[in-house]
Amino acid sequence: RAKAGSGNTYEFYVNSMGMDAMDSLRLEGALRRALERDEFQLHYQPQVDIATGTVVGVEALLRWQPQGGAMVPPGDFIPLAEQTGLIVPIGDWVLATACAQQKAWREAGLPPLTVSVNLSARQFQRQDLVELVARLVRETGCDPRYLALEITETDVMENPQAAVAIFRQLNEMGVQLAIDDFGTGYSSLSYLKRFPIDSLKIDRSFVHDITHDIDDATIVHSVIALAHSMHLKVVAEGVEDARQLQFLREHGCDQMQGYYVSKPVPASAIEAMMQRTRAAA
Ligand code: C2E
Ligand code: MG
Ligand code: MG
Ligand code: MG
Repeated sequence: RAKAGSGNTYEFYVNSMGMDAMDSLRLEGALRRALERDEFQLHYQPQVDIATGTVVGVEALLRWQPQGGAMVPPGDFIPLAEQTGLIVPIGDWVLATACAQQKAWREAGLPPLTVSVNLSARQFQRQDLVELVARLVRETGCDPRYLALEITETDVMENPQAAVAIFRQLNEMGVQLAIDDFGTGYSSLSYLKRFPIDSLKIDRSFVHDITHDIDDATIVHSVIALAHSMHLKVVAEGVEDARQLQFLREHGCDQMQGYYVSKPVPASAIEAMMQRTRAAA
């Protein structure tokens, strides 16, 4: 089996995910069957308001468990799903499932939770994205004000002009919008100012070292100031300990998510968590 850097000619067939041609064909086949076999799940990671300590939202994160196999993390199959276009039906399933879950939580009497859904570049470029979101909101009966869509900075800045138009229509529908992995791409500030978005999510690579790397601390501090100057909320990703949280609180970061509070968990665990906090209050 060819591995990157093995020095033989097979390495030409090794793609960016470190797989050879056979591996990726096999993966593609399995991925094509995964939807009909019902092998996908959404896990949800709580998002906490830093000032009040309350869970105000959750991010939906895709999980794939092939029959009889181990859980495959999204980083291992989303790039291939993007390349093959399979991300479109998979993404539709994610959006529909997250909308239905939001509605179910509302009906169960849970305090309102904003459910965030990740969109990939391919989904964002769809001509019918706005219609699709409108239709799913209608069909599931979810509240669009508590639905957020996350698009990475890199994907948005590939065609910021088109993004402005799409964001406007989604914003008119009442849906919230967030730029994900902020700081890893190159944002045009003039565009950023024109986007009718709600929040910036600071990439976890910056949060990781904030308490001991002065450069990362400066970046996080600057992103918070930039976002606030544009009346945007800031969400920190990947918060793993109390000192990172303390830094973020001192610098006025609005929300956070990370293993310090909770890993992404199944919907039932979110319900249990919300009922516990309500009982405690
Ligand atoms: P993302 O949207 O930036 O999601 C955050 C990732 O950071 C998640 O990884 C989450 O589990 C992880 N994370 C959260 N807190 C911590 C922490 O404290 N420490 C560490 N080390 N990691 C933390 P995950 O679930 O593996 O997802 C990876 C990426 O895959 C996501 O990054 C997103 O870009 C993509 N993805 C996930 N679900 C979907 C989906 O439904 N559709 C699309 N298009 N992309 C998705
Ligand atoms: Mg995200
Ligand atoms: Mg992110
Ligand atoms: Mg990411």
